[in-house]
Amino acid sequence: MSETGTFARIKRRGAGMVRKVPGAGIIGNNKYYHYITGVWGNRRLRRRGRKAARVPEPQFEAYDTFSDTSTLVNSSRSSTFGASTATLLEDEWISSTLPPKEEEQIDVRTYVRTFHHTRAHEFGQHCHLHYYQLPFPWRENRYIIHGYRFYDSHIKSLLSVVNWYGWHNETWNIWTHLGGAGYLLYLALYDFPQSEIWKSAAIPLPAKLIVYVFLAAAIKCMCASVFWHTFNGTCCLQLRSRFACVDYTGITVLITASVLTTEFATSYESPWSLCCYLAASSALGAFGVIMNWSPKFDRPEARPLRIKFFILLAALGALSFVQLVARTSWQHGARLIAPVTTKSVVWYLIGVFFYGSFVPERFRSDVVVDSCIPTEFELSTNLEVVTRLRHVHFRERPTEGPGKRKFWSLWWVDYIGSSHSLWHLFVVLGVIGHYNAILEMFSKRWICQDNF
Ligand SMILES: [Zn+2]
Repeated sequence: MSETGTFARIKRRGAGMVRKVPGAGIIGNNKYYHYITGVWGNRRLRRRGRKAARVPEPQFEAYDTFSDTSTLVNSSRSSTFGASTATLLEDEWISSTLPPKEEEQIDVRTYVRTFHHTRAHEFGQHCHLHYYQLPFPWRENRYIIHGYRFYDSHIKSLLSVVNWYGWHNETWNIWTHLGGAGYLLYLALYDFPQSEIWKSAAIPLPAKLIVYVFLAAAIKCMCASVFWHTFNGTCCLQLRSRFACVDYTGITVLITASVLTTEFATSYESPWSLCCYLAASSALGAFGVIMNWSPKFDRPEARPLRIKFFILLAALGALSFVQLVARTSWQHGARLIAPVTTKSVVWYLIGVFFYGSFVPERFRSDVVVDSCIPTEFELSTNLEVVTRLRHVHFRERPTEGPGKRKFWSLWWVDYIGSSHSLWHLFVVLGVIGHYNAILEMFSKRWICQDNF
């Protein structure tokens, strides 16, 4: 099948339409379950002379708790799990690819994006998924292959913080920022009130308060990140997109607050300039927060745009520094701002490098990673992605590479030491560095009287 366009005529039969008949068992397309013998049967396979009966394990009923009507397949039906699940899935899988009896029009974009969701949901009940078992919208980093959660319960997501259901590929991301939030709380509640900056009468109260604004923004950023990485394993796409916005908002607020503190130090002597910088940065930050909640921002393709936006915000802080240099001298400006560059910006830049380059996981050799993946346009228009190329994009297991499970094959990047984990680590270092830089700048300006 190779149809393209906004709508395509997709032939489909009622795959997965399982109905329960009291006293008789569950009857679906070509499959039935005999309650007395506890055996699943498959009429089509039996006609072909193949044995399809299987010895069942204890059964239990489960219901999807999420139903995302706009983007996901309807998942409100009940399913039965156990050893027979394999037969059910196999039959559903085969049925979805066979010529249909009925014809109906389906949005290609919706069809491609929801393809494999039901199966992924079934897998997610009892194990973590690999990359090729995920529906397309859940795929964000093609170099991270194993350990994806696909939960239908927030409780399960919450328990996954302590690896209740096994180590997954967000564990390290959660704990790096959970630890960071704890340390920042210590700085806010104990370290800063004990500092010379807080105790000194020479430092104006607004300057002291801006430190707390920064610490509050940093703690919010860490908590937002922890929230996102804890709950992004949900099987509900609409919720997942909203959760991602929480994360983007956190880092936008942090960068805005970091810029505000720098502007405070560089432009305090020029009230009008200070007001303009604070207003412009706050407005840009607010715009960024609004943009974060736009669905267009939540796509892998938007990654360069996100990076550019953050750089633009930082550039505003740099502009206030340029003005300081023009007003005083290069030496004064450089001396004042040096702590920010050496203790904070340098860590952020290293973090951005890892965030954008997918190092080190791009060098893994335990599996063969796809050299290219379908673009957003292809996922919206090209049905072949899930038909003719289904065996590529939804392969049963990742293709083994030459490195296999040797240490230097970097197989462990799925669980620890991925580019995103390193990004998290450098963000924490950048935040702590910026806090120390603020104290140093304020000390130079107001306590040491460095003639600004
Ligand atoms: Zn993150």
